[in-house]
Amino acid sequence: MWFRIFLLCCFFGGWGSLYPKTSTSGNPPKWELLDPWQSTITRDQFQNLLARVYCPRKEWWKPWIVLEKDKARIRKQAGKDDWYHLSFCEKPKEPADSEKKRKSLKGLKIALDPGHIGGKYSEMEGRHFVIGKDAPVKEGDLSLETAKKLEEILTALGAEVFLVRAKSEPVTSKKPKDFAKEAQKWIAGRGLEKLKKEEKDKLIKKRQEMLFYRVSEIHARARLVNEKIRPDLVVCLHLNASAWKDPEKKELGETNDFHVLVNGCYMGGELALDDQRFEMMLRLLNGWHELEQKLAEDVSFALAKATKLPAFSYKGPNALKIGKVEGVWARNLLANRLYRCPVVFLEPYRANSKGAYKRITAGNYKGVREIEGVQRIPLVDEYAQAVAEGLMRNFVEPDSNATLPRNP
Ligand SMILES: [Zn+2]
Repeated sequence: MWFRIFLLCCFFGGWGSLYPKTSTSGNPPKWELLDPWQSTITRDQFQNLLARVYCPRKEWWKPWIVLEKDKARIRKQAGKDDWYHLSFCEKPKEPADSEKKRKSLKGLKIALDPGHIGGKYSEMEGRHFVIGKDAPVKEGDLSLETAKKLEEILTALGAEVFLVRAKSEPVTSKKPKDFAKEAQKWIAGRGLEKLKKEEKDKLIKKRQEMLFYRVSEIHARARLVNEKIRPDLVVCLHLNASAWKDPEKKELGETNDFHVLVNGCYMGGELALDDQRFEMMLRLLNGWHELEQKLAEDVSFALAKATKLPAFSYKGPNALKIGKVEGVWARNLLANRLYRCPVVFLEPYRANSKGAYKRITAGNYKGVREIEGVQRIPLVDEYAQAVAEGLMRNFVEPDSNATLPRNP
């Protein structure tokens, strides 16, 4: 998730009108999908999940959720007095048997989602940089390379593995030009029509591109995951990067770290959108958080050990610390909100740090190489192996015979 400031702009992109109802291209909520969870959760459990994971500030959820003694009322549509009634049960339900550890990853359906598109799209996506005469670094290509390595390891361990994207090509069939009307409307909605033509055209182009590579692309991936693959979990593979001190004069930084995200931390403005409010409720009631947190913690341990990097800590209100394991945070992102199953979203390495850059440019070599005094396997191998180790730690009994394949 590179260049945080730009991303924040995207998150708030749908806020043009006074009373927005759904996110950009958001699916209208189907509240009846919550029906199977009637009387399955206690008031305490519900409140606890809201406070600890999904929405830490009461003032953020107060306009949308009313907690009564035996039920919660959730506003179906902004501005309307129409509510979904969710009954609470009195005693917590017995936890499912699925907690038990397995002998191997056999029977587990895992979708790997290589972040971004990469290839010829990486510049447009803003997930691309060039230092001097070196080859460009593209997050979308590195995430795909990692996914392919991870696919091999997990398949050997018995898992059924699917790549949400197997090439540096979009999953969506749409093109930026398909969003010309939306981009025009967005400009009009923000009163930007008076801008100089040149500036306006630039903004329209950027908006069209963002609607293509981000919104349309992730919605297309969500359809693939939710309707075709139907996995037990999705692992979103990304590499982080720092904002450039001077974007005109790109210089590698010192900061290199990792973090792992689960879904949560819906802010007031996000809960004001009908689709996001519904998606949050769906995730909360499905109980996906439990696996997300455990898995995120196991992967976080494995990443810390393999990469030897410190964990990143958020400062702003858009992320919430989850549990005690360093590096595990909740954020409400398009991908970890729309995929209808547990999702962990990984952000190891700052690609434009001196440390990571040296390893990325070293590419794919056999065995180990000494980089800054440390014997290292290729960065993408290290990444893939750490994720596999985290998954094993979470799902498989420690004394089982399944062992991770290792690089020489
Ligand atoms: Zn990313």
